[in-house]
Amino acid sequence: MKNISKKMIRRKKIAGLLESNEFGSEVTIMGWVKTKRDTKGGFSFLEINDGSTIKNIQVLAENKMANYTEEILRLTTGCSVIVKGVLVESPGKGQKVEVKATEINIGGWADPDSYPLQKKRHSFEYLRTIAHLRARTNTFGAVARIRNAMSYAIHTFFQDRDFIYLHSPIITGSNCEGAGDMFKVTTLDLQRVKNKGGAVDFTEDFFGKSASLTVSGQLEAEVYALALGNVYTFGPTFRAENSNTYRHLAEFWMVEPEMAFCDLKESIDLGEELIKSTLAYILKNCKDDMDFFNRFVDKDLISTIDNIINKHFERLTYTEAIGILSKSRERFEFPPTWGKDIQSEHERYLCEHFKKPVAVTDYPKEIKPFYMKVNKDSRTVKAMDILLPGIGEIIGGSQREDVYETLLNRIKEMDLDPADYWWYLDLRKYGTVIHSGFGLGFERLMQFVTGLANIRDVIPFPRTPKNLEF
Ligand code: ATP
Ligand code: MN
Repeated sequence: MKNISKKMIRRKKIAGLLESNEFGSEVTIMGWVKTKRDTKGGFSFLEINDGSTIKNIQVLAENKMANYTEEILRLTTGCSVIVKGVLVESPGKGQKVEVKATEINIGGWADPDSYPLQKKRHSFEYLRTIAHLRARTNTFGAVARIRNAMSYAIHTFFQDRDFIYLHSPIITGSNCEGAGDMFKVTTLDLQRVKNKGGAVDFTEDFFGKSASLTVSGQLEAEVYALALGNVYTFGPTFRAENSNTYRHLAEFWMVEPEMAFCDLKESIDLGEELIKSTLAYILKNCKDDMDFFNRFVDKDLISTIDNIINKHFERLTYTEAIGILSKSRERFEFPPTWGKDIQSEHERYLCEHFKKPVAVTDYPKEIKPFYMKVNKDSRTVKAMDILLPGIGEIIGGSQREDVYETLLNRIKEMDLDPADYWWYLDLRKYGTVIHSGFGLGFERLMQFVTGLANIRDVIPFPRTPKNLEF
């Protein structure tokens, strides 16, 4: 492995080579053996993957190579190799090019008796138990590439519209929101925590007060929106909700735009545009990976996505939604009731009913957080959820309460302490404006675009209750 850095310089990525027609040129590729086939005629075909594409490149190794018998014949799935050779036109079917090897160096062996990834297909459940190796499978390689492209598409979407990317804090002292249970952050010695009349004395803690991992960057984004106009955050968020579902993680990534001088309607428009534009980017730029998911995960995947890109999202109020749900003949586990939350079974029904994504607005104020703008009816707030077929809620957002008195009253009404929100209230005291924003769950978008049923399979290292192996 000594001269690896020199070889690195001429290293070619397989994605580029497969498109190349520089036949006769010398190339070096580095990757992992997917499969190998030895022929009776004294040569071997290796399928090599380097992660740059879902496709493999075929390498032809002849028995006149010095290490043919001792090493090349012993290669199995999972071994790493550095192949030097010549790019040639492939006589074989299904590929345009292949590499005729002049030298193959083995990086590392992978004992076929113990290597957990065999050639056969493995279940997603099993692959979760080997998260350190699942990245080498077709599915998880494709997920990683699409996550990367999707992140790029999201940043591009906002940058093209002159939004400022804001880094909101991960550790927070405000346990606002009620968006979900929070993970505590502490340096207290939990074996010897000092109590003050039963309650933990956080003055002894690192920050001198109780601290948590953030559930949302919204409040901080509002601060910057009210100075810079349009901002967005895109970072990890944490919820200690003990729910084992196919669409909840304890650590997930959220995209949160916040816009000054923007009302609820305009923020729904932006959410619709964001979803359509990022989906279109993936269809255009991740063709091979999307073809793979379309073939092996959901045969209608690409046509479903195409359909959504071209359809106008339905908009209706919560009250209208409850009306539709109540009139349906569907047997719901939770009967739809005005004043109760819309359940995922209801979300699914609404998307099927309209056969497209749906934005539900103006929820009862009792089931929404304190910061949403109260409507004139004083029963509902300017909230919105965007629901996608098969996924349910992908976006949750609202127009924020911009009137100082009303916000103060809402904080008190919800038994929160106004003192905890002094800086948030200040934003309404000085230069307040109508403003709106939303949070889009990045992994839910990844589920939608890949067709993968379980959210644990669209993030490299899922964090869920009782699961922290990797
Ligand atoms: P849900 O009702 O689906 O639990 P929520 O209403 O608690 O979601 P919000 O607080 O509105 O979620 O968060 C904004 C977005 O973040 C949601 O629309 C969803 O896409 C995503 N999201 C929320 N909780 C999770 C989670 N535990 N794991 C992954 N994504 C999540
Ligand atoms: Mn929500």
